[in-house]
Amino acid sequence: MKDLESNISTYASKVSSPEIMLARASSSSLLVDQFGRKVDYIRLSITDRCDFRCVYCMSEDMTFLPREEVLSLEECARLVKVFVSLGVAKVRITGGEPLVRKNALWLFEEIGHLPGLRELVVTTNGSQLEHQAEALKQAGVRRINISLDSLDAERFRKITRVGDLSKVLRGIAAAKKAGFENIKLNTVLMRGVNDDEALSLLNFAIEQQIDIVYIEEMPLGEVDHTRDSTYVSNDATLKLLQHHHMLVSSAETTGGPAKYWRIPGTRSKVGFISPHSHNFCETCNRVRITCKGELYLCLGQEDRVDLMPLLRNHQDDDGPLVQAIIDSMRIKPKGHDFDLRRAEPAVVRFMSHTGG
Ligand code: SAM
Ligand code: SF4
Repeated sequence: MKDLESNISTYASKVSSPEIMLARASSSSLLVDQFGRKVDYIRLSITDRCDFRCVYCMSEDMTFLPREEVLSLEECARLVKVFVSLGVAKVRITGGEPLVRKNALWLFEEIGHLPGLRELVVTTNGSQLEHQAEALKQAGVRRINISLDSLDAERFRKITRVGDLSKVLRGIAAAKKAGFENIKLNTVLMRGVNDDEALSLLNFAIEQQIDIVYIEEMPLGEVDHTRDSTYVSNDATLKLLQHHHMLVSSAETTGGPAKYWRIPGTRSKVGFISPHSHNFCETCNRVRITCKGELYLCLGQEDRVDLMPLLRNHQDDDGPLVQAIIDSMRIKPKGHDFDLRRAEPAVVRFMSHTGG
């Protein structure tokens, strides 16, 4: 804690302080929480809006934020620069659907080649990729996650309520053509909805020579079903896949919560993000910033700091912003508290609000 305090006071000398220079040079982070976890990864949601309405993510009838309550792209860029100056090396841009935000590309270009930023990645539903993949790659995006929950057009529409599978498949093809270092599918399986597609989605990933990650559904926001009625454990999915493929446990990590398996003879990795069956909080290295500038220290808890006033009231001085970010490490909770049997959601905000 003493170190933290001295970090705060040394911030008076701002970006030229030796610690910050050191953090930049060594890619170590000045952001360390009370449990000794180093935070070097941020997920920034640049919009709460989306062109899909996935049943596990949103309710049918969503009210989105008025524009003035959403960070401008300039404010997003400023935030990323400050976090990187504090040693953050990985930034994920997400939403809502980040690529439906007007001029989103400007942001990627502005931050894509920042010294100290090792990885700029994006999570998208793929609907805009057909036209944006190449430009994102040029801007410095290295890896891309594309959500895909079904290969059946009608079912895909049901899950997303409005989505067009063929557009997303063209988006995946465009991403492959653009030559990202890594393309990963994100799949949420729901019992009785698409859990019978676990294997066909993996086979699709293998065929496309890309990776796939299965994410257990999380109780974020009130949706039109009870979460335990659709919950599929990743342990069950792994067992099923092992009947058809040889999966070899791998120690590889991409800096996120996924646990990976390799399939010999293929170029694909299979990952599992299992907040219920395997809690990953002990090694948590990330924080999330909503499109309103709320810094959430944990996806599954309410602890947060509002950065918007610091951005807007101190337009030419990053000092208060940096101090608030360093201070926030004190309230990063030990872990989430997801319980699917509870009738109410673990947190009332949707994943599209916090940023997936
Ligand atoms: N719109 C983009 C997309 O769909 O990839 C980015 C934002 S979305 C919120 C990010 C990821 O969160 C997606 O892969 C989505 O499947 C996942 N997600 C959304 N709600 C979820 C929930 N309740 N439980 C688990 N994953 C969820
Ligand atoms: Fe939109 Fe992504 Fe949520 Fe689906 S998961 S509704 S694509 S934000």
